[in-house]
Amino acid sequence: MSESFMEKVTCPYCHIQHEFKKWILIDTGSDPDLYDEVRSGETFKFVCPSCTSTYDMNYPFAYHEPENRLFIMYANNSEDYEKARRILSGEVPSEQEAINEILGRQGYKKRLVYGREEFYEKLLLFDRGLDDGVMEIVKLIYGENLAKTQKEDLFDAVRYFKDDEKEDGVFFLMKEGQRVGKVNIDEKIYDWVISNYFDRIIENISDTFIVNFFWARNVVQGRQQ
Ligand SMILES: [Zn+2]
Repeated sequence: MSESFMEKVTCPYCHIQHEFKKWILIDTGSDPDLYDEVRSGETFKFVCPSCTSTYDMNYPFAYHEPENRLFIMYANNSEDYEKARRILSGEVPSEQEAINEILGRQGYKKRLVYGREEFYEKLLLFDRGLDDGVMEIVKLIYGENLAKTQKEDLFDAVRYFKDDEKEDGVFFLMKEGQRVGKVNIDEKIYDWVISNYFDRIIENISDTFIVNFFWARNVVQGRQQ
């Protein structure tokens, strides 16, 4: 079951106060409409009833897709990230009983993400049946190869996105949250990573919920998490 509450929000444009529904737990099982609304960003959009300005509401929440056994905790600042990390690791229980119940389930993919970029990247990968661990290693390989040919740091992150022009996935090179370049992905590299790192990925991914650049670097370097 989804959980939400109403919060008073002051429109940043006309400064009139209105109520906005904030989600604590987004559950696409009990609210199937949220599946698309999360992906389009509509869920987080505040539309001011007074002046019709729209504003993106960025706040922490949990996302649950029971049909795909997927549970993601989202944070957009380090304090909330640490709070979510402690809940996912079992150090502290969530204040939400529904979240504790989901965390007790077996066979789930549980993830902690920081910021919208990472959140939408994970959703896209899982929607396409791709493994995020494998893709993080593919990104690492691409990123390192690209960095070698560059004199300065032209990008600080590599992200998997849907291509704007076609259906394929591409990597976007990011610098401070902005797209600064685009790289086509050779699907053979994805298969190559599976065949070369399969055991290490399995070993490192089962108990973790943070699968990002640092995770991939540790796996490639053969360090235990
Ligand atoms: Zn307004």
